[in-house]
Amino acid sequence: MPLSPSLVRFDGMGAVYAISVGNCSAPARELGGSRRSGAFFEGARIRVPGGGTVKARYLAALAAAAVLGGSLVATTPAAAAAKYAGTGIAQTGGTPLNMRRTPSSAGERLGEVTNGGTVWIMCQIKGDRITGAVRTTDVWLRLANNTYVSDGYVRRASFPIPACASAPVVMPPVSGAWQLPVAAGLVSGFHTAQRPTHAGVDLGATRNTPIRAASAGSVIRVVCNVSQGTCDVDGNRGIAGCGWYVEVQHAGNIVTRYCHMVRRPSVVVGQRVAKGQILGYVGTSGSSSGPHLHFEVHVNAPPATSANAVSPITFMRARGLVIK
Ligand SMILES: [Zn+2]
Repeated sequence: MPLSPSLVRFDGMGAVYAISVGNCSAPARELGGSRRSGAFFEGARIRVPGGGTVKARYLAALAAAAVLGGSLVATTPAAAAAKYAGTGIAQTGGTPLNMRRTPSSAGERLGEVTNGGTVWIMCQIKGDRITGAVRTTDVWLRLANNTYVSDGYVRRASFPIPACASAPVVMPPVSGAWQLPVAAGLVSGFHTAQRPTHAGVDLGATRNTPIRAASAGSVIRVVCNVSQGTCDVDGNRGIAGCGWYVEVQHAGNIVTRYCHMVRRPSVVVGQRVAKGQILGYVGTSGSSSGPHLHFEVHVNAPPATSANAVSPITFMRARGLVIK
């Protein structure tokens, strides 16, 4: 099997994948499904639920959205774009090798690799000392699906494995208390191949469409953010900034952000908002080429940063809500 830096592999029991597919002339969309294990290559044909196949694209987005055992584990954007250090073979003597949420034999078990199965190694980190079938070590390997396995059970060639720079971003548990902020189609996706730093989704709502809080919470930011001029006029792509925007903090350290509002938002900092409450109205202030809602979801926040932004499509899908 040829190796590719953009290879994404899921191992484990009934791992669920979310995959973004598309091409240069069509927007990316996401498909859900499940398979026991497997590897996807850019350009590969992938069977999808409901029949048919799609061509694998945007594998960085795919790497950022591996759902394992009902919990969503997202890589940071940097990790999603990183190359693999190399591969190894799980060598346990028979039983499957456990993939865990943390580099510890006490960490939550997220899946397993069959004895003799291949693992894709991203980076290494110190953890529990393990005497395995291959070696005794306190090194754990973070795999491409953001789980950890003990290096004590991995047979591999000698190649440099970088230290893991940061812990992966772990999605909070699902709750039913969410809705979409506008009823509008996806016009630009999260971290797409064409816009790898696009930390949200663009929803093609028309000017003055009410923007609703995606869940109950507290307003933590009401900001005009433009590199020049004001937010009370239509912006353009030649200036920087999110225009008039609002951030709402929700339970579970989740922050949502709503950008490019047409005028000063309808809420103030410190205000409690209910799910569905109007925050403001769709516009095109700031760095924007036309009226739309740019919507972001951040976990382990505040603060909302590019590193803790997660795919709103994946986030909402896990709550039974479809952005397409
Ligand atoms: Zn956007």
